[in-house]
Amino acid sequence: MRTLFLAGNWKMNTNSATSVNLAAGLVRELAPIQNVRIAVCPPFVYLQSVAAALSASQIELGAQDVYYEGNGAFTGEISCEMLKDCGCTYVIIGHSERRHILGESDRLINLKIKAAVKAGLKPIFCVGELLEERDNGKTFDVVEQQIRKGLEGLSAEQVKTVTIAYEPVWAIGTGRNATPQQAQEVHERIRRQLKETYGAELAEKMTIQYGGSAKPANTAELLAQPDVDGLLVGGASLKVEDFAAMVKTAAALKK
Ligand code: PEP
Repeated sequence: MRTLFLAGNWKMNTNSATSVNLAAGLVRELAPIQNVRIAVCPPFVYLQSVAAALSASQIELGAQDVYYEGNGAFTGEISCEMLKDCGCTYVIIGHSERRHILGESDRLINLKIKAAVKAGLKPIFCVGELLEERDNGKTFDVVEQQIRKGLEGLSAEQVKTVTIAYEPVWAIGTGRNATPQQAQEVHERIRRQLKETYGAELAEKMTIQYGGSAKPANTAELLAQPDVDGLLVGGASLKVEDFAAMVKTAAALKK
């Protein structure tokens, strides 16, 4: 039995007032929900004020990125310890916008995942193919390689702390989600890869989220898939009513 896990990726949105309002609205709406894991990932600069708004709630805090060095001359970067100091439990690593807009490599992503795990942060590790790769039948190869390279050097114990988010790049922010069948097919392959590498027990316990234009209207059908254990939500996580509706749908599902 895997607890469903919904995380909101606020990306480069909100300001000091709207970030706190969004967090406070979710706390209000979601107070009775105890059977779903919930996290929000605001921009770095609002982590502390959002942490205060979430305090005494079950909603956890995550960051959208991290740097792998501990401290020093890395202008503009944020360390794992800084994120923990701000109250973060989770950190998104390898988001497609960082891979494809900012040019992050599998190697850099691996260094970040290792640093996060070592520091006690739980990575939400994003993988996913471009449309061109899907059209050329390369989806499984691309995702398999991203996972292998991203988790290289981690022990099974460490891998347990990682959530994998399958996010087909063509579905992110486009309004075009993967069909539940497309998502399930890739999630099943990911779980099979985890089983082959780390064993059946670990693979059964791992949380694999889907991300890409998830919204209230498609939440139930995506989460109904046997290997879809949650959602990483961009656009729809910016509205209290939408994200709360998605979490409530998850809470009502008997998986
Ligand atoms: C994301 O940014 O991880 C994402 C899935 O975005 P959206 O839900 O807006 O497609």
